[in-house]
Amino acid sequence: MLDIAGLRADTPGCENQVFLDSAGSSLPPRAVVETTIAHLRREAEIGGYRAANERLDDLHGVRTVIAELINADPAALAFSDSASRSWSDFFYSVPLAPGDRILISGADYGSNAIAALQRARRTGAVVEAIPADGSGQLDLDALAAMVDERVKLVSLVHVPTNGGLVNPVAEATRIAHRVGALVVLDACQSAGQLPLDVAELDVDALSATGRKWLRGPRGTGFLYVRPELARSLEPGRLDLRSAEWTAPGDYVLSPDAGRFEFWECSVATRLGLGAAVRYLLDLGPAAVYAAIAERAEYLRKALQELPGVEVRDRGIQHAGIVSFIVAGQEPIQVRDRLAAADITVTVSHRSSTLLDMSARELNSVVRASPHCFVSFEDLDRFVGAVRALA
Ligand SMILES: *Cc1c(COP(=O)(O)O)cnc(C)c1O
Repeated sequence: MLDIAGLRADTPGCENQVFLDSAGSSLPPRAVVETTIAHLRREAEIGGYRAANERLDDLHGVRTVIAELINADPAALAFSDSASRSWSDFFYSVPLAPGDRILISGADYGSNAIAALQRARRTGAVVEAIPADGSGQLDLDALAAMVDERVKLVSLVHVPTNGGLVNPVAEATRIAHRVGALVVLDACQSAGQLPLDVAELDVDALSATGRKWLRGPRGTGFLYVRPELARSLEPGRLDLRSAEWTAPGDYVLSPDAGRFEFWECSVATRLGLGAAVRYLLDLGPAAVYAAIAERAEYLRKALQELPGVEVRDRGIQHAGIVSFIVAGQEPIQVRDRLAAADITVTVSHRSSTLLDMSARELNSVVRASPHCFVSFEDLDRFVGAVRALA
């Protein structure tokens, strides 16, 4: 059981508002803010290089806690400043030729779809979307019928940005692997709210961001690449961290996922990300995940009962995102009216998940995403405010 009062005391931002945007940019625990700021102060005292040298063990520790969280080898991780950066660092390194097929998820994130379209234009590959089944999740039968040996890469989104469903990643990955395709998993909306085990899911690469359910600082993200695969890929851009300049005319790539990482980084926010993941591991991820699911389900039920409110979540297994619309009101109006009552939700727009939103004839939805530090009184206050609006 989680100590909710303790969690709230650790989260100064939740005192004066109902915060329901952990799918956008969550409230970090105190330890994350303090770790980050303390390092910036130290840099100002002794310079960034000496300050980083003092924290070499802790920096390595950031790698090991994330590795523990997703059950990966620490050397299979590469840090960056966002999930999109990490995803594209991997994606652009996969060789493609004319006629190759890239499959994306019907609810894939805009940035990933744009990257796929750009590479298709440049290489002569084609992009095709995996349809949704009647429940809204990835249609596994359709995927099985689509794959052939021309499919080089399958992009799966674990939890779409615009709703609470969880896609059957392990099953889809098995289907993709039958034809030798690589699978890259966008775990932005699952890291920190669902179990993530790269060995069990068997994906070839995975990207995630720090600021959402993991509650880390903005400007942090990471990539996992299966070790044997990492050794066979050459990223499109290199520096002296991703490779070593070994002779006037030669360089050698880093032997592991480090080849996807540049040397310069924000040490303060990376340490902050480590503090966030350590905090999650100390709480016990299973308890956190259960608390999130319980809160989201509570909201879904309560909102469904309100006249004039329509919950738009689909899928069979649900996660911490609750999407809804209020009859006669634009989602941004709903967001702004709730903000005036010190309730933070956000809006997911059509262009973030164009295929899925177009298929459902939606321009935007209101998105409420409660983390474990949100109390049931908070949830009731939010539901009351939506009732008053509707
Ligand atoms: C937020 C999000 C991203 C992008 O993460 P960044 O860190 O902003 O690059 C990618 N995919 C999904 C599903 C997201 O929700």
